[in-house]
Amino acid sequence: MIWNRTAECMSRDEREQLQGRRLKETVRRCYEKVAFYRAKMDAAGIAPDDIRSAADINLLPFTTKEDLAESYPFGMFAAPMEDIVRIHSSSGTTGKPKVAGYTKSDIEVWAEVMARTLSAAGGGRKELIQNAYGYGLFTGGLGAHYGAEKIGATVIPISGGNTKRQIMIMQDFGSTLLSCTPSYALHLADTARDMGVDIRKLPLKYGVFGAEPWTESLRKEIESKMGIRATDIYGLTEIIGPGVAGECHEQNGLHVYDDHFLPEIIDPVTLLSVPAGTPGELVFTSLTKEAFPIIRYRTRDLSILNTDPCPCGRTHVRMGRITGRTDDMLIIRGVNVFPSQIESVLLEMDGTEPHYLIVVDKLNGMDVLEVWVEVSPKVFTDEIKGLEALEKKIRHEIHNVLGLTVSVKLVEPKTIERSEGKAKRVIDKRPKG
Ligand code: ADP
Ligand code: ZN
Repeated sequence: MIWNRTAECMSRDEREQLQGRRLKETVRRCYEKVAFYRAKMDAAGIAPDDIRSAADINLLPFTTKEDLAESYPFGMFAAPMEDIVRIHSSSGTTGKPKVAGYTKSDIEVWAEVMARTLSAAGGGRKELIQNAYGYGLFTGGLGAHYGAEKIGATVIPISGGNTKRQIMIMQDFGSTLLSCTPSYALHLADTARDMGVDIRKLPLKYGVFGAEPWTESLRKEIESKMGIRATDIYGLTEIIGPGVAGECHEQNGLHVYDDHFLPEIIDPVTLLSVPAGTPGELVFTSLTKEAFPIIRYRTRDLSILNTDPCPCGRTHVRMGRITGRTDDMLIIRGVNVFPSQIESVLLEMDGTEPHYLIVVDKLNGMDVLEVWVEVSPKVFTDEIKGLEALEKKIRHEIHNVLGLTVSVKLVEPKTIERSEGKAKRVIDKRPKG
């Protein structure tokens, strides 16, 4: 279902006009209320009046994670504290947590974009939403919660963790939509199986999964294990939280709610904008936020934009699945490696489970990368020869994809730690600096 037809299906021209008007207001607000922006724009010789349309975004300087760290915690806020009704912060996956403030209107915008996301994923008033994103400072739990209430669904605010109880509630209450990280969805599926519960026979129909990178192969795995349709949802604390973009039933890219968040892709080296269809780093400018407006924020997430019309009727630009964050990129003997590349290989393999860990170290001055992967219980009881062949096959496939020789360690089922929120896939033991 389309939640807000006026906003989601307006013509491109109309939206561009709207973006232009909102961008002007945002830039003015930032210039007048936030010392950081005033200084940066003054230094670049740009005044708010120079911004006349959405296309003028190019004139504005970027904002980086370092800029936010310097103004930690509240230095970027553009509203007085008495107007701010909520604070969240990022999970701190990389570096110091980023802090976000929200006015009442910001919370309303957030609920609106989450309502769109949940509707696009299949949600509606009749749905029973088991919200297993963590509640707290992390934006996932409350972000999804407000959107779910806005569409009039029934929310089960279970938060993350307590996995067996999650399965019990799913069975007893008959949850129809599950929201959590993809790695936790997988853990839930496995736990259900161990408890003798077949999720495919339960009323669960939809999954709204995000907050961490995942691959198309992992989507297929979760969909078949749970018997659901799984859609991707993207967001980050600095822009609002979850609901910056979400997939529709076409499952072919995430609609960016670009009447509220203006996306660009830049070349991370030249910092120049690149046209739709060229991959690069995602940059966002908020268009309606009051407490914590943000201009040309470099997310370090890698994606691609697609302006082709979507069969669902929504006219928002779509972004491709995130292929990695530059923060996650490992440089192994000069080769750039993203965990998602390794995940794709492992999930295509017969005889392994979708649980893995990438361990990087330095031995005699050389980077070494070891992939730990769980083997399926059946394979594990096989003869050594079978295991050796599997190990060799994985090494070979990874070499094909990365052009890099890695070592592979097959481990017993259930030995790699499960995540209840964002999975930790990489352990880098190399000395820093
Ligand atoms: P952090 O993880 O940096 O501490 P957040 O909790 O705000 O901060 O999470 C936002 C980040 O999570 C994004 O910048 C992105 O790297 C990742 N992320 C969110 N949703 C997705 C998704 N659907 N696919 C891939 N990565 C995602
Ligand atoms: Zn669509």
